Amino acid sequence: PRADASDVVVIGAGPAGALAAARLADSGHRVQVVERTRFPRFSIGESLLPQCMAPLERAGLLDAVLAGDYQPKNGAAFTRRGVSTVIDFHDKTTPGWATTFQVERADFDQRLIEAARARGARVDFATTVDAVEPDARHPRLTVRDDTGHTRRLETRFILDASGYGRVLARRLGLARDPRLESRTALFTHVDTGLDDDFDREKILIGVHPDDAQLWYWLIPFRDGRASVGVVGDTATLEAAGDDAESRWRTLVDAEPRFAELLAGARPIRPVDALAGYSADVERLHGPGFALLGNAGEFLDPVFSSGVTIALRSADMAVPLVERTLAGESPDWAGEFERPLRAGTATFRAFVEAWYDGRLQRIIFHPDPPAELRRRISAVLAGYAWDRDNPLVTASRRRLDLLAELCGPLPEARP
Ligand code: FAD
Repeated sequence: PRADASDVVVIGAGPAGALAAARLADSGHRVQVVERTRFPRFSIGESLLPQCMAPLERAGLLDAVLAGDYQPKNGAAFTRRGVSTVIDFHDKTTPGWATTFQVERADFDQRLIEAARARGARVDFATTVDAVEPDARHPRLTVRDDTGHTRRLETRFILDASGYGRVLARRLGLARDPRLESRTALFTHVDTGLDDDFDREKILIGVHPDDAQLWYWLIPFRDGRASVGVVGDTATLEAAGDDAESRWRTLVDAEPRFAELLAGARPIRPVDALAGYSADVERLHGPGFALLGNAGEFLDPVFSSGVTIALRSADMAVPLVERTLAGESPDWAGEFERPLRAGTATFRAFVEAWYDGRLQRIIFHPDPPAELRRRISAVLAGYAWDRDNPLVTASRRRLDLLAELCGPLPEARP
């Protein structure tokens, strides 16, 4: 078969792949993106965090995002048993963007990859990576298009941004236990019946009144529609109905605020289920390759950190790819993996504290100190790498202590 040459092959045209492709094409590299699906395609992961705006800006992708005219987002609201809390990202301690967007990913991802293409990246859709031969200097891949035709790609570096496809993790045996309980998500889009005074600029997170491990999201979009999902233990979700839609509806109706907001809302796409999405790898780099975004590590959707981590990982990897291509031997462990994982460790501590109840006790506390609110706001805005925030540098210990101080979860206010 014919061999196509490039400097970098990017596997996957999601946010991580598109950002890396745009930047590398900008700096004059021959970039080949290989994407299994045809765009636009549905993806879950619709609520962004302010921290992802800086990497988009650095990559010159902000105009492409703004052109999408998406629903602005400035915080997160939480509700449980009639008790509500609002986190406004403007309160955050960390400097930087305080607002972002809630996006329909079919449109968002397409805009980003089109922008990368406009910079000179070559993008082959409906093309799947079947095999990978890693090598420090001459890595190769075998790809197959949707007619079944295969071809070999020769390149100098591989960026795996294949998300849940996890191409290198599977092919190179890099997967490791994510050390998080396996959960299921049920989700769809609805034509909302949200009341006029509903704050569309915040994601709403609800907690099931009797099961603190079961939670909901409501992500409003610009056009009046919204994404509504429920996440919990797989067996609990399965027990809620005979099929995905009846389970989703039964569980939504079980949370008073969601039931009220969505009383008149209908799903406008089939209710999807995604199970066991948490994943991790032994390492995020090796000779001639690196793993970006979900292709490396994905924890949990509760803090909407996935796209932010994906974009950040691409933002951090690009300069190291450029140096590698220039013949240097950059320290991928010290300059990419460790610093990236420092932030994901913060999110992990928050995710664990969410499910074991510590974080819910802190978030739903009726009267938290202002400085604490500001620090929590910073992490929830995605600034999980800010060493000036004690909730970043000593997440676990601080969350333990704070939960202790906050006492039990408050009951409904009269
Ligand atoms: P992806 O966006 O998954 O893109 C990977 C691309 O690679 C895909 O287009 C795929 O078709 C392609 N691909 C796969 N295999 C191959 C192959 N063999 N060959 C070629 N191409 C291939 N994140 C948020 O930021 N906010 C949220 O609100 C949020 N909610 C979530 C809710 C749930 C229930 C779940 C499970 C996740 C959620 N996430 C959220 C996470 C988010 O979905 C991901 O973190 C994000 O999409 C990762 O981006 P990525 O670029 O790494 O990969």
